[in-house]
Amino acid sequence: MSDRIGLADVLGHRDRIGAEIDRKIAEVVAHGKWIMGPEVAEFEAACESFIGSPEVQALGCSNGTDALVLAMQALGLQRGGVVICPAFTFVATAESVVSLGGVPVFADVEPTGFNLSAESVRQAAKVAQDAGLTVDGICAVDLFGLPADYEQLAAVADELGCWLLADAAQSFGAEHGGKRVGALATMTTTSFFPAKPLGCYGDGGMIFTDDVEMAEVIRSLRVHGKGTDKYDNVRIGQNSRLDTLQAAILLPKLGILDDELAARDRVAARYEAALGGVLTTPGLPDNGRSAWAQYTVVVEERDSVQAALSEAGIATAVYYPKPLHWQSGYKHFHLEDIDLARTEWLTSRVLSLPMHPYMKDEQQDRVIAEVLTAVG
Ligand SMILES: *Cc1c(COP(=O)(O)O)cnc(C)c1O
Repeated sequence: MSDRIGLADVLGHRDRIGAEIDRKIAEVVAHGKWIMGPEVAEFEAACESFIGSPEVQALGCSNGTDALVLAMQALGLQRGGVVICPAFTFVATAESVVSLGGVPVFADVEPTGFNLSAESVRQAAKVAQDAGLTVDGICAVDLFGLPADYEQLAAVADELGCWLLADAAQSFGAEHGGKRVGALATMTTTSFFPAKPLGCYGDGGMIFTDDVEMAEVIRSLRVHGKGTDKYDNVRIGQNSRLDTLQAAILLPKLGILDDELAARDRVAARYEAALGGVLTTPGLPDNGRSAWAQYTVVVEERDSVQAALSEAGIATAVYYPKPLHWQSGYKHFHLEDIDLARTEWLTSRVLSLPMHPYMKDEQQDRVIAEVLTAVG
């Protein structure tokens, strides 16, 4: 029996930069500035240069969910405020709306691909307005690592007179039209959860914005709504800082992210070459690049393919088995007249295959061979 093949490999980078990371950790332990220490500002600056758009500021925070909460608070979401988001996403996208007392309204994803559909946002807004609701914002998600269509979505946001937020928890490092994620929307959030394209050794997150005033508000919100200092409280904030230790770990990891993204591109291209004609592989727009947080295929016989792969010692996952409008905690938010057919169709057909920068060709060939046999 050959070795088990995992979906991701959070330790893969250790051979390459493990010693450097351990040295960084030791430095932080020794200097003792564990809250908002110098590595936090250093990492924020490194992320700003990585994105490469001089006007974009990077603001570290405790995790990708808090990043969404901080961003929506800065954008002005208040109790009862309505935010349109995809039904096909991780729960944090809608949870952050609800935690501020807002109301998520679920819209569908594109007819091909997995990202929020501008057409569906228009329909959802119409249904919400007919129900007497005013739309405050749209939260798009770069599902599985591919940026949503921010040009189209920004046009809809303009029509509706609302804000647009990018939940880029899965897409840090991805690009569209030569611009990096972080510079594709006025406000973007990401996550450094270990299994994300850029992961730390615990929880971490970041907010990107080119709006100078909102950046100042977020700096205040993440430290208890501080004014001149945290004992001067000018607004109601929260405790949502990025740990110095996590920033120190992320610095060397950011240094190899471009290499890791290239390795993920290579794995994706090998899957595409072998599986493209057999099942529905993830498409890429001409001017887009995914961070490949997941490599997700669409296949009719999903459950039997997954069972066969599991039998062969290959890990797969279903993201997401239950869309948000079917979740017990969220189904009461669903407005019945909004068509979520594409989300529901995907739910029983998506399968994420092993994808990480350290996958060996032999391992990937085994995955491919098992998939081909299973769909055969
Ligand atoms: C992971 C994720 C989040 C939340 O990030 P955490 O750091 O785990 O809080 C939010 N949105 C999406 C789409 C995610 O995949």
